[in-house]
Amino acid sequence: MTDTRMKRCTHCKVVYPYHLNKYSFLPKYNDSRHCPKCFKAIEKALKKIPIKFKKTFIKSNDYTREQLIKAQEIRLNKSIENKRILFNSENIEYQHSVCEKMPDPKTNKITFYYATWWDNKPDEVEVSKEVWWDIKNKKVADDQENYRE
Ligand SMILES: [Zn+2]
Repeated sequence: MTDTRMKRCTHCKVVYPYHLNKYSFLPKYNDSRHCPKCFKAIEKALKKIPIKFKKTFIKSNDYTREQLIKAQEIRLNKSIENKRILFNSENIEYQHSVCEKMPDPKTNKITFYYATWWDNKPDEVEVSKEVWWDIKNKKVADDQENYRE
């Protein structure tokens, strides 16, 4: 089932149905601001312009797992150590993770940090952070911004 609202196209001013439900089948050109005809034209025009940046995870030494856990414990005002131990099961190699939004020491922007490790190798921790990646220059983009949900 889709929830439909009638909208007036911001460009051609035609009235059209806009489908709200994200989890069911949606028509191909479904946009909250443009009718399908205009939205199709916009998409076609934008295809000629390459996308220059993307969000991606890169390895990071900014924080350790312990620092991320500590920050999360402070934020939640409780110990998360117990939860990590409880997940320890005999036969399944379980991957643990902790993620926390922390200031990037270089940019001072709030960044999404993520530490992962396996039950059987608790000392092999990989810490990554989410950044805007410069696709053309294959490097972390110069402009970063605070993390948003
Ligand atoms: Zn239109």
